[in-house]
Amino acid sequence: MEALTKKLVEAFGPCGFEDEVRDLIREEVAPYADEIEVDQMGNLYALKRGDGSGLKVAIAAHMDEIGLIATHITEEGFVRFTNLGFIIPHTLMGARVRFADGTLGVVSRDKARFVADMDKMPGVDQHFIDVGASSRDNCPVKIGTPGVIWQTMEVQGSRWIARCHDDRIGCVIGVEALKRLAETPHDVYFVFTVQEEVGTRGAATAANRIEPDVAIAVDVTPASDVIEGFPMQMKLGDGPGIKIKDMGMIAHQGLARLMQRRAEEAGIPYQPEVLLVGSTDARAMQIAGPGSAAGAISIPNRYTHTTSEVVDAADVENSVRLLVEILSKPIAL
Ligand SMILES: [Zn+2]
Repeated sequence: MEALTKKLVEAFGPCGFEDEVRDLIREEVAPYADEIEVDQMGNLYALKRGDGSGLKVAIAAHMDEIGLIATHITEEGFVRFTNLGFIIPHTLMGARVRFADGTLGVVSRDKARFVADMDKMPGVDQHFIDVGASSRDNCPVKIGTPGVIWQTMEVQGSRWIARCHDDRIGCVIGVEALKRLAETPHDVYFVFTVQEEVGTRGAATAANRIEPDVAIAVDVTPASDVIEGFPMQMKLGDGPGIKIKDMGMIAHQGLARLMQRRAEEAGIPYQPEVLLVGSTDARAMQIAGPGSAAGAISIPNRYTHTTSEVVDAADVENSVRLLVEILSKPIAL
């Protein structure tokens, strides 16, 4: 899974521009799926058929990552930009950007008085990107060109460091679970969604199309085991989180209990999750169409929405195991 993770986290795919990621995932799932489809919005569906005795289940992981988009080019050839999804301005200074056409740039900001300004956090709109141009005319980046903050993946013991585990690691877990799912009573739609980071838009379309009985998002959650971390109990390496509640959703409690029971039966460590900020594709799927029993598997992730997110390989493996346990057995809610 390490190799697949590296491939996916180093692919280009800010919100609304997920094509490269979709092509890679499509190649991975093709040999294992009974049907593959892409809808008008760009969501990718890989259906694994059940034996007819089970439910219709949707598993969603979003392909998009936090990114940016050029708004205008200054006369000097610097690129002004806005965010696609929530960029933390703290992380911008000195970061490298990769644009859709491969152009590289370096972020700096207005009035950069490095010591005097340390305590202030200028907004995204007070930064610019230097792509080596000297004028508006010779700047390779045009208005509307999307980009991402560029970082390669690094491995440090059991820790994987990458710029967009949110949510390529969810995509990896979905792909791997499909590969390992030998038999299932359910019709399982593995959905790789678009535009989650700008308001779970792809998942809404996907759920309206599938009308699943059960919907499970696979996404990251903040690991709180750092100095003055989030006010929650979520440790890297202690197992996947099983969602109880977040800011956008109260999980179906019967489904949450079933997920916990499956983990206990199989000896998989897990952490009950109550998250005070953010939400996932499960929020959109819960209330789309006639509604569904929704929940989420959450991968503990340090420094979420920065350019160096950190997950633990054991949590990734245990998330796959948990998902396969849930999908290979009956779901009675
Ligand atoms: Zn996410």
